[in-house]
Amino acid sequence: MQKAILAFDLGGTYLKYGIGTTDGEIIHHAKRDSGGKGSIETIASAFKAAALEMKETAVRKNITLTAVSIGTPGAVDKKTGAVFGSSPNVPAVVGLSLQDIIREELSLPVVVENDANLATLGEAIKGAGAGYRSVLGLTLGTGLGGGFVFDGNIYRGAHGSALEIGHSSIDYNGRICNCGKPGHIEAYASGSAIMKRANELEIELGFDSPRKFPKSKPVFQAALEGYEPAVIAVSEAVDALSVFLANMINIVDPSCIIIGGGVMFGYLDYWDELKGKVADKVADSLTGKTPILPAELGNMAGMVGAVLNAGRLSSSQ
Ligand SMILES: [Zn+2]
Repeated sequence: MQKAILAFDLGGTYLKYGIGTTDGEIIHHAKRDSGGKGSIETIASAFKAAALEMKETAVRKNITLTAVSIGTPGAVDKKTGAVFGSSPNVPAVVGLSLQDIIREELSLPVVVENDANLATLGEAIKGAGAGYRSVLGLTLGTGLGGGFVFDGNIYRGAHGSALEIGHSSIDYNGRICNCGKPGHIEAYASGSAIMKRANELEIELGFDSPRKFPKSKPVFQAALEGYEPAVIAVSEAVDALSVFLANMINIVDPSCIIIGGGVMFGYLDYWDELKGKVADKVADSLTGKTPILPAELGNMAGMVGAVLNAGRLSSSQ
């Protein structure tokens, strides 16, 4: 009978879940609505239904589940598995002990970790970062998350909140972030920021029939067609991201930077421009030395990171 990990990746729209081995192979995966904007009860019931489904799948596939690994937005208290700070895309998760919810369904060891940390771990071991010793990961989606993996280990910081990079400022007089503070990179380079800025520019520039973009993907498409509000919004995002990446390279000097998340695909058309702008800003000693790579695992990075993370815990106990 094969042994495997039950993994969850909680997002604002979907709860992804599946079964994988501790060396990062995903055997089975599925997703369902997470109820991310809803109440604690909605999120808990999504977890419980998914756990039940995977318990049955494991029996059918002759797999023994040995541990549960969960990725969630927000900072995670390592002892209790509770999320703290703020989590604008899944607000009800703050204060929630995901470990307790799972233990009602399954009596297995549970580990909870920040989702961007897990995505970085997945990419560092099995994706674009394989072979690099220190990997700085960015996840560009509705928001902007980050992680840092050194020698195959997640760097969590003193409070489990390291690499909350979306909320680092590139301009103390800058745009107000969703968290209420000025100049945060999330307010410039994330999907929601690009969408919001393009819609503002349509009004500011006096477009009679504004397109009112519902998300960032059509903004990137419109920018390629030369639609001015989109061109400016994307150009500002690339500029802001280059400032941020140059700062991170100066501070951390990672072996490589990996950019993932759904919004990364929009930036692919601007990759050389982005790298050039980073090179213009970074310290002389580091100019051109840090590869900036697109992620390779797509939306599975978090799941791969989750099963790897569970394996690391069980081997160190
Ligand atoms: Zn912020």
